[in-house]
Amino acid sequence: MPEVYNWHLGRPMRYRHEGGERDRQFAAVFNINRCIGCQTCTMACKSTWTFSPGQELMWWNNVETKPFGGYPDAWDVRLLEKLEAANPGGQVWDAASPEDRRAPYGRFDGKTVFETADGFEKMVTGYLPDEKDWHAPNAFEDHANRFSPEGTSLPEHTGWFFYLQRICNHCTYPACLAACPRDAIYKREEDGIVLLDQSRCRGYRKCVEACPYKKAMYRPTTRTSEKCIACFPRVEGHEPLTDGQPTETRCMSVCVGKIRLQGLVDVEADGTWAEDPANPLYYLVHEEQVALPLYPQFGTQPNIYYIPPRWVPRAYLRQMFGPGADRAVERYTKPSRQLRAVLQLFRTTQRIVFSYEVIEGPRYAEITVDGEKVELFDDTVVGYDAEGREIVRVSVQEPIHERPGKLNSI
Ligand code: SF4
Ligand code: SF4
Ligand code: SF4
Repeated sequence: MPEVYNWHLGRPMRYRHEGGERDRQFAAVFNINRCIGCQTCTMACKSTWTFSPGQELMWWNNVETKPFGGYPDAWDVRLLEKLEAANPGGQVWDAASPEDRRAPYGRFDGKTVFETADGFEKMVTGYLPDEKDWHAPNAFEDHANRFSPEGTSLPEHTGWFFYLQRICNHCTYPACLAACPRDAIYKREEDGIVLLDQSRCRGYRKCVEACPYKKAMYRPTTRTSEKCIACFPRVEGHEPLTDGQPTETRCMSVCVGKIRLQGLVDVEADGTWAEDPANPLYYLVHEEQVALPLYPQFGTQPNIYYIPPRWVPRAYLRQMFGPGADRAVERYTKPSRQLRAVLQLFRTTQRIVFSYEVIEGPRYAEITVDGEKVELFDDTVVGYDAEGREIVRVSVQEPIHERPGKLNSI
């Protein structure tokens, strides 16, 4: 079986196929700290793509409440237990070396969903959920791990919950693709979007069993599987509202909490990201390292990155986002001047921002964070499209508009 390089794991990995030629990769950053759990994203996807018979329980985008919620029920706990059983005590990381772009989270010494399978009868370790497991996209909504009558405070709350926003990760090494005996799943060369060809699918559900994130789903009315298509017509620029420019997906562009920033990043032949600090996603993931992959130890090199919730116990975050979690929370809690500016870009335009620059502005306030004085600057961040044209301009300090003293007569 070929070896590929997985930079989330900081090492080569066994995978069914060679890493394919790819220029760009669909990717996004979700800032968990800002999500209000409104499910506008969930409904935007459902009303666009999954409103037909047989798709009733199909939520390509869902927002679940951790620690208890999951769609399907306990999807992550069940897989973590299987991997632990396959490699008892061995699912560990060595020390992180953040300066190394090919191994920013250190090296994962454990075994992935591919490495715990025999690669012959089974390509991927997974499980097939029961029908009843898919009953709700946000079970245990707003349930905390415990009630804290004594109150709770940062840096880690004793009673806590958070929303986890989930779509298909359009993984660099998709488990769904590796498991499909019909080769019905493919990864597009132009943008790394993972699609399922329903004319080839025979409904064996190997993808549903294999996807560690459970984002491939079965439709009984057609007896085929389906999955998130990354709204590829929008990414390709077929959305009339944005004059044919690459456009953010439906779930990204409706986000009320402004938690999502989606784009396309340049990638090297081995699946690592080409150096491009002017791309806001590259900056957040590689330069600032404030956004992390979900369960990198699964081994699929997912392309949705998360800014972890700063109030949640770090051991939980380390298990979910890998060893970079402490550093990411620290940097988000005390953001650099540049990070504060880049965070303003989230959800300010439907067009995909390919690059940005920060124009320095005046100091406007001084605040105290963890006993340290922090100066605030009213910098402006400008976003550009693929051709370098300005598509958005927003300042750190929200402008104040005073109404005229005279009331209007309407
Ligand atoms: S998240 Fe699942 S369905 Fe999506 S590409 Fe990865 S393995 Fe496939
Ligand atoms: S990217 Fe498009 S298809 Fe995928 S979850 Fe979001 S809205 Fe649905
Ligand atoms: S629309 Fe945005 S804020 Fe609302 S649930 Fe979805 S990700 Fe969270």
